[in-house]
Amino acid sequence: ALREMEPKDQQLMVALRIRPLNSTELEEGATVIAHKVGDQVVVLMDPGEDPEDTLRAHRSRERTFIFDTVFDQNASQEAVYHATIQHLVEGVISGYNATVFAYGPSGAGKTHTMLGMDAEPGIYLQTLTDLFQAIEETQDNMEYSVSMSYLEIYNEVIRDLLNPSSGFLELREDSRGSIQIAGITEVSTSNAQEIMQLLTKGNRQRTQEPTATNKTSSRSHAVLQVTVHQKSRGGDLAEEVCLGRLFMVDLAGAERAAQTQNRGKRMKEGAHINRSLLALGNCINALSEKGGSRAQYVNFRDSKLTRLLKDALGGNSRTVMIAHISPASTSFEESRTTLLYAYRAKNI
Ligand code: ADP
Ligand code: MG
Repeated sequence: ALREMEPKDQQLMVALRIRPLNSTELEEGATVIAHKVGDQVVVLMDPGEDPEDTLRAHRSRERTFIFDTVFDQNASQEAVYHATIQHLVEGVISGYNATVFAYGPSGAGKTHTMLGMDAEPGIYLQTLTDLFQAIEETQDNMEYSVSMSYLEIYNEVIRDLLNPSSGFLELREDSRGSIQIAGITEVSTSNAQEIMQLLTKGNRQRTQEPTATNKTSSRSHAVLQVTVHQKSRGGDLAEEVCLGRLFMVDLAGAERAAQTQNRGKRMKEGAHINRSLLALGNCINALSEKGGSRAQYVNFRDSKLTRLLKDALGGNSRTVMIAHISPASTSFEESRTTLLYAYRAKNI
């Protein structure tokens, strides 16, 4: 049976994270043009290259965007986790789906937010630690089994990052209409460290190619899926097992084709990335529009990413999108398009 959401729970949250200026940007003489105002607003200033451009001069030089939460360079990894994902963990062990996306151009901080570093672990480790902690605390009444898989979508094909030699994987719909990935490696696990080790190993298999903007730009979407089966101890044998899925997605870099001077192979990748990010934006936007009985109106078929996440984005699930930007004047166009995308994801 589908449970009702608690009214206080948002089905969709869109957050924005602004990273600090980096040394390259400082050397280039970049200034900070993106500012957090209060908890929910970001103001982006147009650095306006040409003062003679009278059309421009008459236009407003700044633009304001509102999100559910805005983080600036002072936000710790814990603060980001706490305000976005933490409250979803309990839902996952009691049968809700939750999905987290890191969105933004290459170098804007997606992997920092998701994976982070040993000293500043990101969302993956913080979420998994809390997940296993919550399981520990309810062990007496409930029985859990947890498994994970890790895949990438590159040029509209799915690769198993835990078993890259298995080739391209296909999506199938089972008899109940839920999406399965045929042949994916599903590893049973009982602690967060184990998952992190598998993730680190999987990340070395991820498709990364140099582009003009970033030496190790990620050209694929990396999807970590954690599945929690739960059933009550000593309960009715016929009772259905409850299943909660957590997807954590480090999306491919959302750079503009012109910016990266992409040709040939790069351009084809870019077209695939743009198409799937557009499809994702459309699905999320449709979800925010439709409220409760939403899934049937959304077209998930437009890309592998949205097909794969069909269950995760519809039904009894909660979605968090964290968009990322650089604050630098040299990234104005990228930041502007990122803010527009994320803003549109939530607002019609
Ligand atoms: P992306 O995954 O979006 O391409 P990264 O997460 O790899 O970008 O970030 C690019 C660089 O900036 C990395 O060296 C990363 O450590 C650093 N960085 C990103 N966000 C932050 C932040 N909030 N605080 C400190 N350093 C950051
Ligand atoms: Mg990255």
